[in-house]
Amino acid sequence: MIDDAKSLSPDAVTDADILIIGGGAAGISLAMNFLNSPLKVVVLESGGLTYERETQSLYRGRNVGLRYEPLDLCRVRVFGGSTDRRGWAGWCKVFSELEFAKRDWVQLSGWPISKQDLAPYYEKALATVALPRDLEKSTETEAAGPGCLPLGSGDCVNEPIPLSTLPHLSEAWTETLRASQSVRVILHANVVGIET
Ligand SMILES: Cc1cc2nc3c(=O)[nH]c(=O)nc-3n(C[C@H](O)[C@H](O)[C@H](O)COP(=O)(O)OP(=O)(O)OC[C@H]3O[C@@H](n4cnc5c(N)ncnc54)[C@H](O)[C@@H]3O)c2cc1C
Repeated sequence: MIDDAKSLSPDAVTDADILIIGGGAAGISLAMNFLNSPLKVVVLESGGLTYERETQSLYRGRNVGLRYEPLDLCRVRVFGGSTDRRGWAGWCKVFSELEFAKRDWVQLSGWPISKQDLAPYYEKALATVALPRDLEKSTETEAAGPGCLPLGSGDCVNEPIPLSTLPHLSEAWTETLRASQSVRVILHANVVGIET
């Protein structure tokens, strides 16, 4: 079901077996695993179903790390998160072995996990964005296809990046989540602290 914190009383108390903070790509994907679960799952989402400037302004802030886009322009604060239409268009890619490897010429490179560790999760992730399980194979075939430049396999290679046909997760899943008895999404619910 989908509720709105604006219609709850200020002293309302909600309990849950699993609490998910944020209904973006990660939060919605997690919640979709519990649609018919006996567990009580609550998703607290800062935004509403549509983009609101006031909510988006909560992302304003000063970047103290590597230089990047203004913080309130590079993430979208709405149900669906940065998979909203103002966010990503759906470019999807399975990481290559190289991307996990330590490379002297890439600062901070070298992951503590390998590509093989991720393999079982790709299957679910690809289904979430409506792409085929053999995505890697099909892009390899495409890279060698007639429409590609004859780059060979040296320093320059063709690497097509497919587009998801289902990039805007909230648009795809809102009605399913609304119908769920075990998952409750609460909109306009800004988490301001966690007490342990
Ligand atoms: C313009 C743009 C283009 C992109 N293009 C691509 C692409 O082509 N391919 C690709 O793979 N990725 C792309 N991305 C990145 C991709 O969208 C993100 O990596 C992905 O959405 C991150 O998922 P997430 O769940 O971590 O965060 P988000 O999807 O941003 O979700 C976070 C959620 O948490 C909510 N929230 C935040 N703070 C609170 C709080 N205090 N309390 C409650 N809720 C809160 C937000 O409202 C939001 O719904 C793009 C992003 C942008 C902005």
